[in-house]
Amino acid sequence: MIHSTVNPVQTTAGRRSLTNQSDWIDWKWQMIHRIRSLEQLRDWITPVPGEIEGIKRTKSFFRWRITPYYASLMDPDDAGCPVRRQVVPHTDEMEDDVDLLDLDPLEEQAHSPVKNLIHNYHDRVAFCVTTECAVYCRYCLRKRMVGDGTQALNREELQEAIDYLAAHTEIRDVLLTGGDPLSLNDENLAWIIGRLRAIPHIDIIRIGTRYPVLNPYRITDDLCRMLAENHPVWLNTHFNHAKELTEDARLALDKLSRAGVPLGNQTVLLKGINDDAETLKELFHKLVTFRVRPYYLYHAQLIGGTRHFRTTIEQGIELMEQLRGRLSGFAIPLYVLDTPHGKVPLTPSGYRGRKGDYVTVQAYGGEVWQEYNPDRDPTPES
Ligand SMILES: *Cc1c(COP(=O)(O)O)cnc(C)c1O
Ligand code: SF4
Repeated sequence: MIHSTVNPVQTTAGRRSLTNQSDWIDWKWQMIHRIRSLEQLRDWITPVPGEIEGIKRTKSFFRWRITPYYASLMDPDDAGCPVRRQVVPHTDEMEDDVDLLDLDPLEEQAHSPVKNLIHNYHDRVAFCVTTECAVYCRYCLRKRMVGDGTQALNREELQEAIDYLAAHTEIRDVLLTGGDPLSLNDENLAWIIGRLRAIPHIDIIRIGTRYPVLNPYRITDDLCRMLAENHPVWLNTHFNHAKELTEDARLALDKLSRAGVPLGNQTVLLKGINDDAETLKELFHKLVTFRVRPYYLYHAQLIGGTRHFRTTIEQGIELMEQLRGRLSGFAIPLYVLDTPHGKVPLTPSGYRGRKGDYVTVQAYGGEVWQEYNPDRDPTPES
């Protein structure tokens, strides 16, 4: 247990060492002991006025919760800490666009034939199986629903969604999302995955989860065994900063890899958190050392209270240009903008145009190359 007698807080790591280790590595303990009050937060950090005020003022708009594990990664004395900024409410969220909070910029509801099942692409769907998360990220795209149990599916509604999937033989790939699907306990998750596996045309099951980042102890041997029994199961996680790639996260990801689950990562480009080439480079490189393939870099979506996190698309393109050729090819994700019509790639290309039989391309170092590439069928030699 955390002893409130220790005061003042020296380091967040010191806080952690006060907790019984077997409690600490129990994912349910982490969930029960999530930080949800200013008083509890003071056990971990010295909040600045913008945070203290932010906690009060965002209360009626968007919930906050932080697992002790994730809190232990926060810098206690630096409000600019990239971990802290993702999860501690701040008055910046109240700037000018907070009324856009219920926004559904991707028109997900319009693309949901049954509740919480987004059928936007022909052959694959996103299935929001829960509205719960380990932590409520301040920039979340689904603020309209996360943490709101009344929007979650009950058993009958889950069955209704599964019936839809069974009836639509064009669907080959089902992405479990939310909220965060790993908020479900193993039994409920196994029930859903088992039902999906019983549908012959569904080849691929995917899980989108932030648990390896926010509560890595969720990745238990039992969970891995269940996933391995239902292959092919792919998993995409969501690291935004190298600071989140801890030894505990590495162990969780290693377990998944050993269970044969291919791992990808989706990062959101966030101003002041990861919007510079060095930070992204370190993150993507380190992900690869953890055997996680960077998959997408998302442009931050227009959502209420996230103005301070958003960059321009041109800034994102420029960052990707800076990464080209400076990381292993598979360490570079695709920079995308999600739209109601699907994801649109924004990663710049080296193609510079054609002149006659030559195509001009530009290498990462700026060198221009003329490639002989005639735009006609070869003349048959008779
Ligand atoms: C992103 C997304 C998918 C999966 O798309 P991929 O590009 O194949 O990863 C499926 N459905 C929806 C609604 C999505 O937003
Ligand atoms: S874990 Fe994902 S769905 Fe949940 S609050 Fe964070 S970004 Fe939103």
